[in-house]
Amino acid sequence: MRIIIMGPPGVGKGTEAELLVKHYQIPHISTGNIFRELFTHEDSEIGKIAKSYIDRGELVPDDITNQIVCQRLSESDVQKGFLFDGYPRNIEQAKALDRFLEEKNWKLDAVINLTAKTDLIIRRLSGRRVCEHCGAVYHVENKKPKIDGICNQCGGKLIQREDDLEKTVKRRLRIYTEQTKPVVGYYEQSGSIIHVDGGRSINDTHHDIMKVLGE
Ligand code: AMP
Repeated sequence: MRIIIMGPPGVGKGTEAELLVKHYQIPHISTGNIFRELFTHEDSEIGKIAKSYIDRGELVPDDITNQIVCQRLSESDVQKGFLFDGYPRNIEQAKALDRFLEEKNWKLDAVINLTAKTDLIIRRLSGRRVCEHCGAVYHVENKKPKIDGICNQCGGKLIQREDDLEKTVKRRLRIYTEQTKPVVGYYEQSGSIIHVDGGRSINDTHHDIMKVLGE
């Protein structure tokens, strides 16, 4: 299964992606997670450059992002399929992905576009907390950890991402509208996109996605 999950920041892409990769037993390729991994755990030059863009809520330049994706697609685990979360984020990246897939003679099985109202997205993002160690995602209202401020999975400390601060969230939403929304149109033209309401509970949204994927 080769899937892309799209939608504005905070719509629940990461959470729904986790459920889908578990179901299909495929790797979860989140470009945001790859960048965060590079600057948190590795002393990487690309990581440092990426961080400067991420902290401002801007997109990391396409050449860096596409290079990272191309490298990831050359690893052996993607042979069985993959799920992209947060990529492609503009038309240039969508075209680059088309080229990578064409080289391998692979086709996408589904592009899922999650939608939600802006006020809900802002509420979700400002309440989001992540484990500074393993990156697991929580929410102060609807996905609380068992112990306040501590990750259930690894015991790491839960923090608020720099780019989830309100001012940065607004910039991310503007960039989404200007650059990422056109990618929805790009996949609409090829007829491969499925729109799912991401404004409901995690399980309801998952149920709808599974219904349209038909498995
Ligand atoms: P995410 O975790 O997907 O919300 O991504 C967090 C941040 O990482 C974004 O706001 C961007 O700064 C950067 N990022 C993630 N994926 C991409 C991408 N495909 N292209 C450019 N920047 C990206």
